[in-house]
Amino acid sequence: MAGVQMSMRPTNRIDHFLPIRFKNGAVVKQFSKPCIKCGQLLQARHMHGIARLLEDHLAMAATAHCPACHTQFGVACVIDNEKRVRRVVLPLFLFKLYLRTLAMHPDEVAAHEQALADIAKAQTPVIKAEPVDYPRAGSIIGRYGDKPIPAYIVVDGREVPFDRIEADGQVNVGEYLLDGCFVYKPAHP
Ligand SMILES: [Zn+2]
Repeated sequence: MAGVQMSMRPTNRIDHFLPIRFKNGAVVKQFSKPCIKCGQLLQARHMHGIARLLEDHLAMAATAHCPACHTQFGVACVIDNEKRVRRVVLPLFLFKLYLRTLAMHPDEVAAHEQALADIAKAQTPVIKAEPVDYPRAGSIIGRYGDKPIPAYIVVDGREVPFDRIEADGQVNVGEYLLDGCFVYKPAHP
């Protein structure tokens, strides 16, 4: 017989298990934990493993990978329905195995779907420009986060200069959006 397969499939990102809604209405939307080596705050999308709703507790076992320093470390914890997080002292591989062997409970599926529906209802629709990758100027006039800001983009053969940053990607008529947050505005419309 082959041994128990311990490696995590790359699709088992912890953020894909979220949000989870407990029976008391509390919703766990995010999970974050600082890197044990460099302190960078890692999010659920930086963790691969498994999360399971067990009665009033969300149990999670994952391997976190720090994008900043590439350290990998195990995360094993239980979150209760008041969102208190407790570390699990069981060895990580045993905890993962335990969670894997539990059958998917119908309540778990319902809790996930209900939470998604609630969030969709709460969100107000916003109009966003379609992402288009325009030709960019060679010169960079600054940076925003880790993104370089091109001095201008080329639209229909015309140079359109950088105007401002809109973190939520909202633009006015006649303006262009690049990389989801850089707004370019024609000088002579
Ligand atoms: Zn790190």
